[in-house]
Amino acid sequence: MSVPAKKRPVGEKRRRAAHFALKKIKYASCPKCKKPKLPHAVCLFCGTYQGREVLKSHLDKKELKKAQKQKARAAEKQQGR
Ligand SMILES: [Zn+2]
Repeated sequence: MSVPAKKRPVGEKRRRAAHFALKKIKYASCPKCKKPKLPHAVCLFCGTYQGREVLKSHLDKKELKKAQKQKARAAEKQQGR
């Protein structure tokens, strides 16, 4: 590993570090469901972009997972009794 020829002054280090701060993520609200979403991106809650439904399969998968979870819970309850 290479070693710097000179120690960087504190001021230089701080000037460089002035740009390290993370920027806050700005959200836009979905026109359909009013939930926060990233601007210029598909809403992940309702799957729409500019009024069109784009992610229908995404929603179906979510519903499938929900149904599977409910089934699993019901099965657990029956086994417990
Ligand atoms: Zn939405």
